[in-house]
Amino acid sequence: MELESIRLRGFRNYFELDAAFVPGVNLILGDNAQGKTNLLEAMVYLSTGKAFRTRKEQELIRFGADFADLEADVLSKNRDKTLRAVLFPGRKPRQLYLNGVRQKNFTTMAGELTTVLFCPEDLLILKTGAEKRRKLLDNALCQLRPGYAKALSEYQRLLEHKSRILKDWREKPGLLDTLPDFNLRMAQFGAAVVAYRANYLQKLARLTAEVHQQFSGGRETLSITYETVSTVENPLAPRAEIEGQILAHQEAHLRAEIESGQCLTGPHRDDFEVLFNGLSLKSFGSQGQVRTAAISLKLSEREIFRDDTGEEPVLLLDDVLSELDEGRQDFLLHELRSGQVFITCCEEKQFPRLGGITRIVAGQKME
Ligand code: ATP
Ligand code: MG
Repeated sequence: MELESIRLRGFRNYFELDAAFVPGVNLILGDNAQGKTNLLEAMVYLSTGKAFRTRKEQELIRFGADFADLEADVLSKNRDKTLRAVLFPGRKPRQLYLNGVRQKNFTTMAGELTTVLFCPEDLLILKTGAEKRRKLLDNALCQLRPGYAKALSEYQRLLEHKSRILKDWREKPGLLDTLPDFNLRMAQFGAAVVAYRANYLQKLARLTAEVHQQFSGGRETLSITYETVSTVENPLAPRAEIEGQILAHQEAHLRAEIESGQCLTGPHRDDFEVLFNGLSLKSFGSQGQVRTAAISLKLSEREIFRDDTGEEPVLLLDDVLSELDEGRQDFLLHELRSGQVFITCCEEKQFPRLGGITRIVAGQKME
């Protein structure tokens, strides 16, 4: 997979940008606040249909601009493809194009440009709240499994609706009659979400353990366990079984949900735990151990993409290298010998000449 070029109009702080890239390592250089992360954000948007730094798409449109237009040329399996998204202020929906043909939604564009993003916050992903870890799973699975993206968005829609019912039922008690139907559908889509996550984590756990073994010179053994709805005995079991177990959990918590006014049960509270030598990394890991494990996790994610799609995903490293000591930098860079990589940083001399260089100043490319 190769991102050959990108064109931005009115995206974030870019008035107009046309940039071409090399197949190997691309350094994106610039001082703080010039637009380096914005450029990666545009790539991720065309890859996932989502902005990774905000939930508000409007923020992506350059202040005062009538629209934001993002377009990328991608080379995948010897074929050229063009991905394009146009965003508008206000309520007008976005427009998506694949090879110039208008698409109804992002589902048909998912997987056309696969990316793995690694940023400084990810170095702490095994230390922070569960939401970040769920996002890691969702982001990977939405790119790799269209069925997952659909199940997840359906589940989230139902969850929002159910949460509103639980909040408002005191004013309108009749709303509670609709709960069983919501629970049933949430158990169906929830079981699909659990099954995809369990499979993905199984692979991720195996690869991460391997990478980590090398990284730590064989001193540490890493293992990952999936934590989902407590009544689910085996998340790898057939979906019908998981569905029944989610329903049982919902029933047991119905009263508590109605009383607390909150949705307390379902895979929207999922997490995974990482253990090193049998100890919880979150509770007992040192800073260095947490970082090392995060790198192993990200490198494994890239490997799964490669195995799964038959192509190396585009790797986006936003400011990560400057956060790492020399030993960890070396390990990471050593693992990047193949595929296309984008590395943002402020200082060119921090790295030996790696590949192509794009210099960004105030949302403009310097020649
Ligand atoms: P750093 O090295 O500090 O990470 P960076 O080069 O990655 O910096 P970005 O985060 O890409 O910087 O760009 C930040 C700049 O873009 C900010 O100054 C911000 O004000 C500006 N910006 C963000 N959104 C918009 C927008 N919608 N319109 C105009 N400018 C914007
Ligand atoms: Mg940045």
